[in-house]
Amino acid sequence: MADGKRRRVIIVGGGTAGWMTAAALVQALGSLVSIRLVESAEIGIVGVGEATFPHLRLFLRRLGIDEAAFMAATHATYKLGIMFNDFGALGEEYMHGFASFGEPLAGVPFHHYWLRLNQDATGAAIGDYSMAVAAARARRFHPPGPALGGDDAFSYAYQFDATRFAPFLRGFACARGVERIEATVCRVERDGASGDIAALELGDGTRLEGDLFIDCSGFRSLLLGDALGEGWESWADWLPCDRAVAMPCARPPGEIEPFTRAIAMPSGWRWRIPLQHRLGNGYVFSSAFVSEDEATAQLAAVLEGEPLADPRILKFQPGRRRRAWSRDVVGIGLASGFLEPMESTSIYLVQIAIDWLLELFPLDGIDTRDQQMFNELIDFEYARIRDFLILHYHATRRDDSLFWNRMRTMEVPESLAERLALWRRSARVAQFGRGPFLEPSWVAVLLGQGIRPQGWDARAQLPDAAGLRSAMARLKSDIDRRVASMPGHASYVQALASGASING
Ligand code: FAD
Repeated sequence: MADGKRRRVIIVGGGTAGWMTAAALVQALGSLVSIRLVESAEIGIVGVGEATFPHLRLFLRRLGIDEAAFMAATHATYKLGIMFNDFGALGEEYMHGFASFGEPLAGVPFHHYWLRLNQDATGAAIGDYSMAVAAARARRFHPPGPALGGDDAFSYAYQFDATRFAPFLRGFACARGVERIEATVCRVERDGASGDIAALELGDGTRLEGDLFIDCSGFRSLLLGDALGEGWESWADWLPCDRAVAMPCARPPGEIEPFTRAIAMPSGWRWRIPLQHRLGNGYVFSSAFVSEDEATAQLAAVLEGEPLADPRILKFQPGRRRRAWSRDVVGIGLASGFLEPMESTSIYLVQIAIDWLLELFPLDGIDTRDQQMFNELIDFEYARIRDFLILHYHATRRDDSLFWNRMRTMEVPESLAERLALWRRSARVAQFGRGPFLEPSWVAVLLGQGIRPQGWDARAQLPDAAGLRSAMARLKSDIDRRVASMPGHASYVQALASGASING
């Protein structure tokens, strides 16, 4: 900081995005900044967003938050992946687990060998060679470690009560110096000369000046969208779901599934997220294909327990603001864009935006090159997730509803079409080297939804078939043995809550 002044950061919004940002900034920047967060009790938070991505563990670890304390405060459960039902075809299921399939041999990814031995689609499913998938199917959980094949044998995320996460982080952030202001922002004042945001006016007339404004105001996008008029790029042609109806219910007794389910519905899909105290349910649908009332009735008909709240309709548009950082405003969370929650990516996008903001933080004033880099990085993440989501809809053989017919036959973005062509030809997945979905994720969905490639890496022909078969059998039995040593998921969560030690 060339001028030695503390930078004044104003965050608008106290949902998951606002409090994650406040907690991370105060932890990383300490006395270099002053942070004030305005949240409106009148408006409230979106109150959904319960399934997460493994990266969240890193976020909590960086803050030094104890996992058991976080789990207890948010009534969380563990998540080893997402089980997709009825996406490829009615009656089919597969899992996108947080683990690789097998191990590469002579530099060739495992799935090429698997394809060679499974030309006729018989034999063990590819998921049998993934620790995360095998453990999830067995409803068992234990964090990875030496006894389970090493720290990298698989990964995991959490499922938590969305209304409890922000208050949990609020306690953390305020204890470290973040000032919380409960008020509604009524007016945004722009500097006449520069056009930047100069100050916010609150309901009681208070004026808040800042050097950097972080818009975490949710779908309202109060600063980035409303005040600055930052353009919107819509992806509704590819992702036509624009509504969700959410309805939590009592959790049926018995084992808690350590995974989220995404279950295809006639005009979209529904989530099923088991928490310690309830099941989160929601039907994400396209209003062009089904009415709100019908969607609500379809969801109500499949609830597995007593509804715990009235159905709540949420409306959204898939897409993003053209620039997430414009002038002196950085949009984080729903204020900067939204991609439907099929792969639980929104909170991940919040986290990534925070990481890059910290990396490029304008302590010495805003540099347009940093801004541009931030925007390019965020664009990359959004586009990558967008294509992965479209794949789930497009790679289907379903022809039983207008919605699925439309998704199956639509033209996909060129970037996805190229990836699909590469896969179909050679079983290769184009690598990006970074971002959320690496090769195992694509392989899980492509094979899971029945897209069989015509060929595979020629080097996979080299090992003799018998040797390969027995190596794969050994791999599977190692995984089965390790999974059998894990406790049941519910008992692991319970033991964690009671402070008991649990061995895998
Ligand atoms: P919000 O929670 O809406 O918070 C906005 C804040 O801004 C509130 O505090 C509000 O009071 C405040 N505010 C607004 N206007 C003003 C004003 N004028 N003055 C003062 N304060 C103001 N994400 C996942 O990662 N996993 C999921 O499984 C998932 N499921 C989802 C399902 C649905 C149907 C939807 C719609 C979203 C889902 N998400 C999911 C996204 C996730 O909910 C959000 O990314 C996350 O909750 C962050 O929201 P937010 O903080 O940006 O917005």
